[in-house]
Amino acid sequence: MPSAVVEKYMRVNRLAHIWCPGCGIGMIINGAIRAIDKVGLDPDKTIIVSGIGCSGRAPGYMNFDTIHTTHGRALAFATGMKLARPELNVIVIMGDGDCAAIGGNHFIHAARRNIDVTALVINNQIYGMTGGQYSPTTPVKAVATTAPYGDAEPAFDLCGVAQAAGATFVGRGVPARMPELINTMTKALQHRGFSFVEALSQCPVYFGRMNKGGGPVQMLMLQKEMTVPIRTAQQKPEESKGKFVTGVLYQAERPSYEELYNEVRERAIASGESRG
Ligand code: SF4
Repeated sequence: MPSAVVEKYMRVNRLAHIWCPGCGIGMIINGAIRAIDKVGLDPDKTIIVSGIGCSGRAPGYMNFDTIHTTHGRALAFATGMKLARPELNVIVIMGDGDCAAIGGNHFIHAARRNIDVTALVINNQIYGMTGGQYSPTTPVKAVATTAPYGDAEPAFDLCGVAQAAGATFVGRGVPARMPELINTMTKALQHRGFSFVEALSQCPVYFGRMNKGGGPVQMLMLQKEMTVPIRTAQQKPEESKGKFVTGVLYQAERPSYEELYNEVRERAIASGESRG
């Protein structure tokens, strides 16, 4: 029997979903709808946009206006939607390959522009849907279908990239610490400007199996071991060495792209040169 929150925000008639047993994507989407519920976003004024991959299937199950776009282009579609209808809430769901490989340029420029969308990246550190190839967030030396003897490329720190590129909200979480992840997503949805949340996720079928990470339970336990909440990291920096810090990592205020674009538009109208 689905919970009231699931019934309210999910297309329950489209369930069961396609994700493998023990996958973290369903857990993270469950957390996302709880954050949406806490903020009280109107589903009729909220658009969910996704690209391609296992996480790209999420909007198909979510009871909002949704669009499943082409690979890597979710942020480009979202940018157009936000500029056309700035009053709408735009939430983008991407995977690590979608966001940081084929969509990498859209990612850094959306952050630089500070467009007022919330980007949730479900980072399972591998391409799941296409068979376990390594992605830009696969840890160096980790095994993937296309790196049977280990990945030679260091992984992107997605939160570091987002902040360096200009995002005004950056957070991270894991399904193993769900209350903290919901809290971070809630704050991201309330923030005005480009909000970036990385949810590290377990892919037991490819990443876990190929890297001897165990099943879903072992991978969830590992998430707790390899992460440290930001408050602990600040109080005991020695405990955060080599770990992912979780929670709200960065928040700042500056004008959003829509605000600055609107000013440009008004100047053009005032000059008498506007064509529409
Ligand atoms: S392949 Fe991995 S990421 Fe994709 S649904 Fe299965 S467990 Fe989840």
